[in-house]
Order: sequence, then C-alpha cells, then structure tokens
Amino acid sequence: MKPILPGSTIGVLGGGQLGRMFAIAARRLGYRVHTLSPEFDTPAGQVSDIEVTAPYEDLDAVRAFAERVDVVTFEFENVPVATAEAAGMVAPVRPAGSVLHVAQHRIREKTFLQTAGLSLAAFRVIRSLQDLDCAVAEIGCPAILKTADFGYDGKGQAVITTPANAANAWKAIGGSAAVVEAFVDFECELSVVATRSVTGEFAHYGLQENHHRNHILDFTVAPARVPERVFGDAVEMARAVLEKLDVVGVLCVEFFLTRDGKLLINELAPRPHNSGHFTVDACVTSQFEQQLRAICGLPLGSARQHRPAAMANLLGDLWSFGEPDWFALCARPDVKVHLYGKLKPRPGRKMGHLCAMADQPEAALTAVLEGRECLIEPQRRGR
Ligand code: AMP
Repeated sequence: MKPILPGSTIGVLGGGQLGRMFAIAARRLGYRVHTLSPEFDTPAGQVSDIEVTAPYEDLDAVRAFAERVDVVTFEFENVPVATAEAAGMVAPVRPAGSVLHVAQHRIREKTFLQTAGLSLAAFRVIRSLQDLDCAVAEIGCPAILKTADFGYDGKGQAVITTPANAANAWKAIGGSAAVVEAFVDFECELSVVATRSVTGEFAHYGLQENHHRNHILDFTVAPARVPERVFGDAVEMARAVLEKLDVVGVLCVEFFLTRDGKLLINELAPRPHNSGHFTVDACVTSQFEQQLRAICGLPLGSARQHRPAAMANLLGDLWSFGEPDWFALCARPDVKVHLYGKLKPRPGRKMGHLCAMADQPEAALTAVLEGRECLIEPQRRGR
C-alpha cells in the first residue's frame, strides 16, 4: 500500500472533540481535513478545511464526501456500519467497518472478547425478561443490565440489586437486546490506548488510571499507580485485542482491576479516547497523531511520555453559575487548558479538559484538580 503523504486529505466521520484534536494533529502535519456530521459548527468542523453537514444515513452524501478524500476515519464508534461501508466503496476506511461492527454492540463485543480468551466479567446475552430472570439467578446480584446498542458513559444501563428488580431494569432500558453482567467490586478502572499500523507495528502509552463520576470520566492519572505486573498484563491484553480485530488505527481498552488483582476488560473504543488526552501535552506523539500515522500507512511515532501527567475533564456543570474564571486558571502556568469550541454548556457535556505534568503522578493530579477548582472559586465566594 502506498502511504498517504502530507498534503493529502483525510475525511473524518463525526464532529466532536476527538475529531477536533485529530484535525489539529493532521493539519499540523500539513494534511487537509474534511468532516461529516449531522450538525453545523461542530468542534471538529471549526478546525477543518471543509465541514459537511449531512445525516450519517444519507449514503449519497457519504459517498460524495468519500470521493473528495484519500482516507476516511471516524471519531466516534456509533457511526452506522452502513455509513462506513458506503464510504469504503470509494476510499479506504480505517479502522475498517468490521471493527466498528464489533465495538459498537455489546453482545458482539463481549462475545468477541470471550472467544479470544480474554478475561471479562461474567455476562449473559438478554433478549427477553425470561432470559434476564434466568441470567440473574445464575450470575447473582448485584448485576448490571446494559443495552447492546449505543451505550457509552453509563447510558442505557440499569443496576439490578435483587432478582425482584429485574423487571424494572428491563423496562428502564426499554426492553431491547442487552447483556447483563456481574457487578465488579473493583479496586480501580484502568485503560490502555494503543495503536496498530498498516504493517502491524504496535505502540502504546502504558496504563492509565481513570476515575469516573456519574459514569463519566472525571480524571485520568498517567501512569496508573498500580504494580508493574498489572502494566505488562494489560498491555499484552490490549495487543491481543488490536491484533485479533486487525485494527489499523487507535483503540482504547478499558479495564477493571479487581480487589484480588485480576484484570477484566470492560469495553473497547476503536478510536482515540478521553483517557488518552494527556498524550497531547505529555508524549512525543499524541494519540491523535498516532491515529493519523496509522491510517495514512506511515511508521508510528514514539509513544514515550516526558513526565507523569494528569488530565481532568471540564464538564458543562462548571458553567452552572456563569462563565468559569479562565483568568484565574491562566494564572497557573503549569496547567494546560483545552477547550472544544462547544457553544452550549450542558450538565455532563464534555466542554474541555486540563492537563498537567509533574515529577510524580500525585503532584500532576493535584495541579489539575486545583486548576479546575479555581475556575469556580469566585462563584463559590459569591454564593
Ligand atoms: P460502561 O459504559 O460500560 O463503560 O460503564 C460506565 C461505568 O459504569 C464504568 O466506567 C464503571 O464505573 C461502571 N460499571 C460498568 N460496568 C460495571 C460492572 N460490571 N461493575 C461495576 N461497575 C461497572
């Protein structure tokens, strides 16, 4: 395959912050970027050469989009597979639609992981309330019911605390195809963000430690503060996932580390990931540049991290008492701020993130959390 060199045009399906940071990385290397999403003035569209506004289901628009680019990638996994296939008739799509097909559907994802011999929480496929009753009897409580489709950040999930709750949980997720899995009493949540090139070259950023609030990532510490053995095991599991799925691009594997030291895969995201945002400031080659290199058939860059780092998300909630105090934040020169250009801050909406580096992960974490606090300090004082 001939590499797609700087000066070529990359097509991105999706308009969010991942597409924005990807487009910035691509333009820095002299590529042109076109985006397609159903919205206008999107975070990715704002920094692209051309922003196409069309529904993903408009396959004529998707084909016309693909005709004008040299390679197509996506920035979120819920792009319909038919869209990836339509684009694939015209231009290479990386990662391939087959990777999307597995990763955007929990039944297929968990079945793939189980068949690949990778560890994950006990689960059962659910297609009816009767299935659910049987599964809960087998797996025990508490258990979590998750819709097969379009689940992210805890959406489409219901916790079952006693078998009598099962019917309510089934109703709460709308009675559609689902998986139910055992509730994991975890020590912490971890992730590996890894890249695989067209020639099978593999690169990773080690292991990150992720802390969630209301099912949404709150902050990441890199490297994770866990024993060395866990690092090696997690990276090898991630390598197996990328190889078995034949991924060309970036894929994030999210894990639970159980209290007895076992790694269980929670889910896969076949794209750069929120837990890899620290790589923009802290690594030789960011996850977005690695995605670009991989899909263009170039050698991967060094994933070496300069110093321990931490990342804290800025959610729309921070705006609930008015504009955050950016002036106070900028008075902390050790904290880098990234904003995604979103006009409407809504609770739970990812508006930006902060990143800091230090000699120790703890110090980096303190810096980003203090930075985030100072954004709302004046509002607190005014209350
Ligand atoms: P998910 O959308 O599957 O990544 O779930 C979002 C979050 O819910 C995870 O990051 C965990 O904090 C929590 N969660 C999901 N599944 C489980 C489980 N089986 N046991 C315990 N917590 C879970």
